[in-house]
Amino acid sequence: ASREMCPDGRVAEVGGQRIGGKQLVLMAGPCAVESEEQILEAAQGVKAAGATFLRGGAYKPRTSPYAFQGMEDEGFKLLRKAADATGLKVVSEVISHDQIDTAAKYCDMFQVGARNMQNFRLLREIGRSKVPVLLKRGIASTIEEWLDAAEYIMSEGNYNVVLCERGIRTFETATRNTLDVSAVPVVKERSSLPIIIDPSHAAGKSRYIESLSLAGIAAGADGLIIEVHPEPKVAMSDAAQQLTIPEYQALVKKVGAVAAAV
Ligand code: PEP
Ligand code: MN
Repeated sequence: ASREMCPDGRVAEVGGQRIGGKQLVLMAGPCAVESEEQILEAAQGVKAAGATFLRGGAYKPRTSPYAFQGMEDEGFKLLRKAADATGLKVVSEVISHDQIDTAAKYCDMFQVGARNMQNFRLLREIGRSKVPVLLKRGIASTIEEWLDAAEYIMSEGNYNVVLCERGIRTFETATRNTLDVSAVPVVKERSSLPIIIDPSHAAGKSRYIESLSLAGIAAGADGLIIEVHPEPKVAMSDAAQQLTIPEYQALVKKVGAVAAAV
């Protein structure tokens, strides 16, 4: 993952789409897949705004075992259907190594969530699967630990790794996590991997998403992954941080203006 190994930086390839380099990648969709109608409406909305990846959790690694855990494999199927109907790529989380074969049938890219950043068996087996990976930063992980996690995937021969800064735990409670914008230039200096920003899980509140998105892009991030729900108020998970489709469409316009300026 080091910069020395690849001084010009790596570009990840996901089904013919490139992540890294000049073009920003926009990934968006609900926190969780909840129904066929919900995921299709989200897909249509984010596609119209310019996103090229549909996100949505089928397996949700929830902090409480009593919270909604996702639609599981049925969620993967609905994601694939909505993405195919709208011409989007699918990025979705796998939380265990034994899901990889099934998930690979439906996903173009696997997400490794913050809670699993150091699940080394999962990292190694995703490495062997060769499916492109979005590797989120652990809740309390240093950049060095995060890059070592990327190394676990790459050491198995999978170089299509994209890092995702999603906020880290600090003493601050005004936001859900603290977006570490510094991670962008540090990662760019030490590593060859593309890095995108997840302002949704960093902020935890929809009204802060715009500021964090623009800051991430101004800092040089290669894209954004944002939670967007047709009706955030009734979302089964992360209701407070999801944008409506019109809010997302307005945000993408501003992001484009900042990207053009940097
Ligand atoms: C998610 O993106 O659905 C998610 C659970 O995020 P994180 O792993 O960053 O908390
Ligand atoms: Mn979420």
